[in-house]
Amino acid sequence: MPRGIYLRTKIHCKRISLANKGKVFSLTHKLKLREAKLGEKHPRWKGGKRISREGYVLVLIRKHPYLTNDGYMFEHRIIMEKSLKRYLTPEEVVHHKNGNKRDNRIENLMLMKKNKHGEFHGKSRQAKRDKIGRFLDNN
Ligand SMILES: [Zn+2]
Repeated sequence: MPRGIYLRTKIHCKRISLANKGKVFSLTHKLKLREAKLGEKHPRWKGGKRISREGYVLVLIRKHPYLTNDGYMFEHRIIMEKSLKRYLTPEEVVHHKNGNKRDNRIENLMLMKKNKHGEFHGKSRQAKRDKIGRFLDNN
């Protein structure tokens, strides 16, 4: 075959883009895929909990106004929301009183405004913590 027959003509390019268009999943299809992979059907199902990179407990949740793309929410926020019987706003932060990010007992949680929380941690940044982030002294 002569060289150049494989060069993409304008029509050819159009055909390729049309073919690829079909491969782009519609939003509903994406949701169906997600639904199918979530929960018990997921091969790596671990009871819907995992630990975030920062060391917080994440739980799998289906309905929430501030749900992230992968469907996980911080457990400490959910526990606070249940106790307040309302959703937390993005300006609200749940602080772990003893510094242990995995200790999500309601007694260990404290609701704070984002800016106040930042201030709070700014002050106690010098405080010594153990391996899992608990404060070694109580100041
Ligand atoms: Zn905090």
